[in-house]
Amino acid sequence: DACESIDVAIIGAGPSGSIAASLLQAQGKKVVVLEKQYFPRFSIGESLLPCCMTVIEEANMLEAVNQAGFQFKNGAAFKYQDSYTSFDFTDKFTAGPGTTFQVERAQFDKLLADEAVKQGVDIRYGHSVESIDLAAEPMLNIIDDKGGSQSLKAKFVLDASGFGRVLPRLLDLEKPSSLPTRSAVFNHVRDNISDPNFDRNKILISVHPDNQDIWYWLIPFSDGRCSVGVVGEPHQLEGLHDGVDCDIDGDLNSILKTMLNQEPGLKKLLANAELINESGLLKGYSANVTTLATDKFALLGNAGEFLDPVFSSGVTIAMQSASMAAKTLIKQLDGESVDWQQDYAAPLMRGVDTFRTYVEAWYDCRFQDAIFFKDPDPKIKQMICSILAGYAWDEKNPFVSESKRRLNMVVELCRS
Ligand code: FAD
Repeated sequence: DACESIDVAIIGAGPSGSIAASLLQAQGKKVVVLEKQYFPRFSIGESLLPCCMTVIEEANMLEAVNQAGFQFKNGAAFKYQDSYTSFDFTDKFTAGPGTTFQVERAQFDKLLADEAVKQGVDIRYGHSVESIDLAAEPMLNIIDDKGGSQSLKAKFVLDASGFGRVLPRLLDLEKPSSLPTRSAVFNHVRDNISDPNFDRNKILISVHPDNQDIWYWLIPFSDGRCSVGVVGEPHQLEGLHDGVDCDIDGDLNSILKTMLNQEPGLKKLLANAELINESGLLKGYSANVTTLATDKFALLGNAGEFLDPVFSSGVTIAMQSASMAAKTLIKQLDGESVDWQQDYAAPLMRGVDTFRTYVEAWYDCRFQDAIFFKDPDPKIKQMICSILAGYAWDEKNPFVSESKRRLNMVVELCRS
């Protein structure tokens, strides 16, 4: 038949899609990326972790990222009531980059996609994947922006559709997350911060003074603006209600302002800040799947499991998944036998499970106690710092290889 036939179809041109495409293209594979939207387009997830710089380098995009003028980032700071702790990512246990950037994703994702195109990748914008047939060789049905329908045959499909979750929906792979349904309300602000002690090189995570389940992010950009958001279960965010239709009392901007004013540190820091857009709302962002990969498809980044944004691990996991899947897929396309469970899903989940330990312990406050402990052991702090810098796959780090046990030991020490 006349149906176009390629090696790999990638759904979505976010970080996981562009990186995977670049790595496969570099090995001479025929790749097509199908992207529903046109870039630049907004995406949440603006604070990167140093670990992802190694994958950006692998994809030959490091120079372009370094030169783009993004806000330099060297760590994370945490605030709860009168306690303030900061982690310097260059002072960590695991070798590898210790600095990264905070980025507006509209620009960052476009830059990665443009770099992939420069390397020869075929990205088709305005092309939405609508259905898939896996009976024989995978066959995608695509609707373009003019309403035209196309078919594309590929030896393998990578789903990099993020919150679009294309294959989990089409193949009925969705599984409820083990984490409670939390929501985020967010915006960009012209911050007008005058406090000379405010460290623009770090993400600031602030905990609500009366409810440690609720937290805020403040992510400075390089041009005097910040990304700001609040996270909690819907009923904990004043003005939001639980429920699928998510009723809102008033508008999202006033919900965000009300919540920000409840944290005295942010209230003071952002006293002269101006909201730039209408605030966004993401409800129930945590997601999971029954299967990450078979011999015909693999789920990358957010199309697979998404835990929680508190440690800014999303883009790092997305890029790691792209790198791991590309390596496995190159072997398969070259005729070697691969086991997607053993070669891709299990190793990827090692890092995701590390983050899971710390995310769960953040919300039950054990990890918050450790973070805000006044007199931490410097060696232990370096090991925890590695994880916060994204090195969640480093089995040499005891806080990775035995994350639960080690964390519990530290918590006991802090609490005694
Ligand atoms: P995406 O970047 O979402 O890209 C998916 C692409 O697929 C999109 O461009 C979309 O248009 C396209 N697509 C969707 N459906 C289709 C279709 N049918 N056909 C074709 N194309 C399609 N991560 C961080 O690293 N740092 C943070 O600070 C951070 N903060 C966050 C805050 C919140 C509140 C949340 C919810 C998440 C946060 N994340 C953060 C996570 C981050 O947003 C994601 O992990 C990351 O964007 C995943 O990248 P991706 O490549 O998997 O998908």
